[in-house]
Amino acid sequence: MSTPDQKPDEHQTASSPYAGLPTFESYLSANGENSHRFECAGCNSHSPLVQSYSLPTVMLLPFVAFWRMDVIMKCPGCMRAHILCRLPLAVLLSNIISPIIVVFWLVAFGRTFFSRPS
Ligand SMILES: [Zn+2]
Repeated sequence: MSTPDQKPDEHQTASSPYAGLPTFESYLSANGENSHRFECAGCNSHSPLVQSYSLPTVMLLPFVAFWRMDVIMKCPGCMRAHILCRLPLAVLLSNIISPIIVVFWLVAFGRTFFSRPS
């Protein structure tokens, strides 16, 4: 029951059987801090610097066009290696629109230098 001067939300949190338990986020880190650590798809390390990057891939053939967007979760170092290894093939596949693809990939390459812990 709530008193007239008490808001309903305050009453519920104070009497909740889960009020004293640690948050879900604190279980994700070993030392109990609230930090988000994701696993890098390249080196399998858990780092707060691991982020997701979107890279478009276009394949232009004479009568067929294929387009897809890859979302890659990697740390900055692995992402730079990923971009440098696969950019020549992406340029070759996208032939006449390759400048657009190169801009997208270079923007993602530049983002790796400014990644901050999330
Ligand atoms: Zn990595």
